[in-house]
Amino acid sequence: MSDPLTLNQRFVLASRPVGAPTPENFRLEREALPDLEDGQVLLKTLYLSLDPYMRGRMSDAPSYAAPVQIGEVMTGGAVSRVEQSRHPKFHPGDLVVGATGWQSHSISDGRNIIPIPIPSGLPSPSMALGVLGMPGMTAYMGLMDIGQPKEGETLVVAAASGAVGSVVGQVAKIKGLRAVGVAGGAEKCKYVVEELGFDACIDHKAPDFAEQLAKACPNGIDIYYENVGGHVFDAVVPLLNPKARIPLCGLIAGYNASEAPKGPDRLPALQRTLLTKRVRIQGFIVFDDYGDRQPEFISAMVPWVRDGKVKFREDVVDGLEQAPQAFIGLLEGRNFGKLVVKVAQD
Ligand code: NDP
Repeated sequence: MSDPLTLNQRFVLASRPVGAPTPENFRLEREALPDLEDGQVLLKTLYLSLDPYMRGRMSDAPSYAAPVQIGEVMTGGAVSRVEQSRHPKFHPGDLVVGATGWQSHSISDGRNIIPIPIPSGLPSPSMALGVLGMPGMTAYMGLMDIGQPKEGETLVVAAASGAVGSVVGQVAKIKGLRAVGVAGGAEKCKYVVEELGFDACIDHKAPDFAEQLAKACPNGIDIYYENVGGHVFDAVVPLLNPKARIPLCGLIAGYNASEAPKGPDRLPALQRTLLTKRVRIQGFIVFDDYGDRQPEFISAMVPWVRDGKVKFREDVVDGLEQAPQAFIGLLEGRNFGKLVVKVAQD
């Protein structure tokens, strides 16, 4: 039986944002948890992942996934510990990862959780939300499968200090490419070059950003791993080489826009570049397109992380109540590394 005194704290979607989300779009609620039924586990959230895709779930515009309904718990991946179990496969103390949402506890029937896919000896279970989790797998699959990296080529990736971009550039270096990052501000750019080992990193807020990017890519761009869109994409297009590949992963620069970007006059010029340079551009959604390839990703990434060939940085925020502000900051570039909320002690 679950402890009747166990209270769950959870953030529900209070209203849909217009433009950038505000704290008023979220509501903190408390509820007593019911007793477990056969086949269920009681989970205590240790780390909650905050990711850009959550902005899409707050909106009811048509998308690849259903929106969170008003009054529903905010969707989100988390690492949790099994507190009580009436499920044959899970035992108290087990660490699991799954889509359990923005809450301190949850009850699962086992279908939305898996045992944490991290070998022992690695520093924190929160890695299952970053470098060894969904963002790391997004980086690896998009780069390897769509990017088709070849030694000596030049790769550009934006949001380069973040969860996805940092892994993209480091894997590109392992594969023998020139890796050029784009990031917001001098501190992030310094980290991308000095700590992560990219060849260069350009601040997208610099007034001469496009010129600096061109200088950093003297042989043009063979792979542009698209995380942001907006003015970064505009600066990249003229530098694309024939047969360039663009894994279209995310467009965070537009996530807070309440209307689709205008400007059909830009489209013919872009289409001409795509045609004349025979550019291959392909969108993907990591779990829809590569959900069955997690073992391949884990067996490639774990040795790189162990050997220090792929480094990672986490931006850890303390306490579930901080989640809305931290998430709002993610969409403004205020995070520095993979953003996770520490909800309870390991
Ligand atoms: P990050 O950890 O990189 O954090 C987001 C970063 O985006 C910010 O720190 C900021 O970096 C940058 N950013 C925010 N707003 C803007 C803006 N207006 N213009 C330019 N840059 C901006 O996030 P993730 O690594 O988790 O995600 C990166 C991208 O990958 C997102 O677009 C996300 O939606 C996408 N994604 C797609 C998946 C898929 O299956 N297709 C799966 C996972 C992620 P800076 O300060 O350096 O600009």
